[in-house]
Amino acid sequence: MEFFPQIMGNKATKERLGRAILQNTFPHAFIIEGPRGCGKHTLAISLSAALNCNSAQKSALPCGTCDSCRRILNKNFVDVKYITKKDGKSTIGVEEIRSMREDIYLSPTESAYKIYIVEDAQVMTPQAQNALLKIFEEPPAGVVIFLLCDNIQQILSTIKSRAQLVRMQRLADEAVRSALLKRPELALLSTSSPEAFTAAIKLSQGAIGRAVEMLDTEKRDELAEEREIASTLLERLVPGKEKFKLYSAIQALPQKRNDFLRSMHMVLDGLRDLIISKYDENTALLFYTDMTKVSELASRIGHARLLRFYDAFTAARNKSEQNGNMTAILTDLCAIASRV
Ligand SMILES: [Zn+2]
Repeated sequence: MEFFPQIMGNKATKERLGRAILQNTFPHAFIIEGPRGCGKHTLAISLSAALNCNSAQKSALPCGTCDSCRRILNKNFVDVKYITKKDGKSTIGVEEIRSMREDIYLSPTESAYKIYIVEDAQVMTPQAQNALLKIFEEPPAGVVIFLLCDNIQQILSTIKSRAQLVRMQRLADEAVRSALLKRPELALLSTSSPEAFTAAIKLSQGAIGRAVEMLDTEKRDELAEEREIASTLLERLVPGKEKFKLYSAIQALPQKRNDFLRSMHMVLDGLRDLIISKYDENTALLFYTDMTKVSELASRIGHARLLRFYDAFTAARNKSEQNGNMTAILTDLCAIASRV
């Protein structure tokens, strides 16, 4: 039997979860962890469908064709409920979990299992998590709770110890590519703008949803612009060029934290390509598309200089991730550039 055909990769996880459903040993609480766009949501929906699938003879779980499966997979099913941030709020508060608690002890309306999917579980306030813990301590029969999160560090250990953890696997670029090619509009794009298509796959870091997001028309232009900024900056690392040009390339980096982090990701991937070109000309490139150009640029910049900039940009990225002051981070980079 094929388990969860909606999910790419993650073979061992699918097998384990599928067996648990068949053997009726499916736990009542799950934490599904992985970066944005990696398929946490699709997995939770697919599991919900599998738990409530009505098909007697199936070659796949969920069968995907019975009435229950179709409605759950189309997100049109009363016993699969979502808990999300309220509009304009940055956290999931205790009120949201309390109203979930009021609902949870009522029997399911039309299915075997009642499912709750908590999106962005990492933004639950500690009070909300404590309220959730009360449910975990006395779980009602026939209820399954999925906590979807980017980062499990923000989940209380008392919650973690009462839920089973599923870590989504990072997919290989080729798997992301073949998933994208199944969508007609993206297949078309792969021939009309092959560079943008490949760039989105590389930047998605194995998350199909992120690649799809980046290929959205508006995002695509933004992405091309960001690539241009990163590429100009890397060009200007060549020593001897007027220093002010390097400064202006650093100043051209986006100042908003998330945008800056995305740019750092590109710059670091580019630097990695340049550094590795010295050792292995056959390596798969992360940022560039043409190894000849990479080797040529790498020799103009020089190996030691590349390594020093790699350290400087890694430090800048880390500081930014730790909420460092963005102006100070960019100033530091300029200062380092004048010394290197
Ligand atoms: Zn079914």
